[in-house]
Amino acid sequence: MPTYNKKNIEDIDVAGKRVLVRCDFNVPQKDGKITSDKRIVEALPTIKYLMDKGAKVILCSHMGKPKGQVNPKYSLCAVAARLSELLGKEVPLCADTVGPDAKAKAAALACGEAILLENTRFDAREEKNDPELAREMASMADIFVNDAFGAAHRAHASTAGVADYLPAVCGYLIQKEISVMGKALSDPSRPFVAILGGAKVSDKLNVIDNLLGKVDTLIIGGGMAYTFLAAKGGSIGTSLFDAEKVDYCREMMAKAEKNGVKLLLPIDTTITKDFPDPIDAELEVSYVKSTEIPADMMGLDIGPKTRELFAEAVLGAKTVVWNGPMGVFENPTLAKGTIAVAKALAASSAITIVGGGDSAAACEQLGFASEITHISTGGGASLEFLEGRDLPGISCLLDK
Ligand code: AMP
Repeated sequence: MPTYNKKNIEDIDVAGKRVLVRCDFNVPQKDGKITSDKRIVEALPTIKYLMDKGAKVILCSHMGKPKGQVNPKYSLCAVAARLSELLGKEVPLCADTVGPDAKAKAAALACGEAILLENTRFDAREEKNDPELAREMASMADIFVNDAFGAAHRAHASTAGVADYLPAVCGYLIQKEISVMGKALSDPSRPFVAILGGAKVSDKLNVIDNLLGKVDTLIIGGGMAYTFLAAKGGSIGTSLFDAEKVDYCREMMAKAEKNGVKLLLPIDTTITKDFPDPIDAELEVSYVKSTEIPADMMGLDIGPKTRELFAEAVLGAKTVVWNGPMGVFENPTLAKGTIAVAKALAASSAITIVGGGDSAAACEQLGFASEITHISTGGGASLEFLEGRDLPGISCLLDK
């Protein structure tokens, strides 16, 4: 597991300098309108700091998957407009990423002003981390700031390659990921409890393996728990089951025992006959022991006793990391396990960290976000962080 101690924007003199800032402005849009500006709002502290310090700010980001082709559907046009509103200052969108318009606008920037380059993925060289594209991006600036944690697990020209040509530091978002999540994984206050959920064991193999070397208690809920329960000889009915991962689950249970890690699995389960269709359909549910699920029933959430068991484990913790829902939380009847975990984290005085994606959305929708120490701004990136993998968008930055 890499321990990151990277320079940030406050460690470098930015006044009067051209600063290329990689943001994650990949916001959800419908009919050309932004449906959540959260990622733009989260990027503001770094952008404002640089503008206030008199930097000439050149912002860039990807949007969607235009596959290396210019496609107006994936333009950053709406982002530039929203950013201008939020900053109370016009942020012009360049017609290209490293073309003549971007270069002219970057050259004409005054101190304290910002421009936005067009979608970095309009250039096929971006995702190949092409050094020529990275060099062209770098040629417009004096300093590189990476603040796109959501893209930090990808080695692309604008997330990592450009750091080969410019002094590179992190913005506030990546700084917080490093200082909270990085610290929890490298030097946690104990007891350290991790809670994993979500659909499949196979998506979190390396996370489970890595965390078993770090935590005091590992809690497994969600669809992935049933393969563990089956590996212990339980009857799991028609619940999610990954036959190829049964041996892996046994291996992980043995590793937990060897490392003295308490591995908590659901003791009871919320069952139904069929998977809800539509997903939010009204349901009749019942509760059974999680190793005694009838052959024609499926487990779709943890049960009431497990909610208590998991909440109790959180209560005694000093550090808690959570990634993945405890059940099919899209259905209100099957969201109770996920809500119970979110509540337990919100009520805890421990350092609480929620990985991106569904669990982050659950905390926000339930209004618990402000009670959590840190909600990661990256789904895939936060999982790779939990796996102990090196994140190219962070390792490329200057050490303190
Ligand atoms: P992930 O993307 O791996 O975090 O998984 C999230 C998805 O897992 C959500 O869409 C949940 O509905 C689904 N999920 C959680 N628990 C179960 C379960 N017991 N059976 C089926 N799907 C589940």
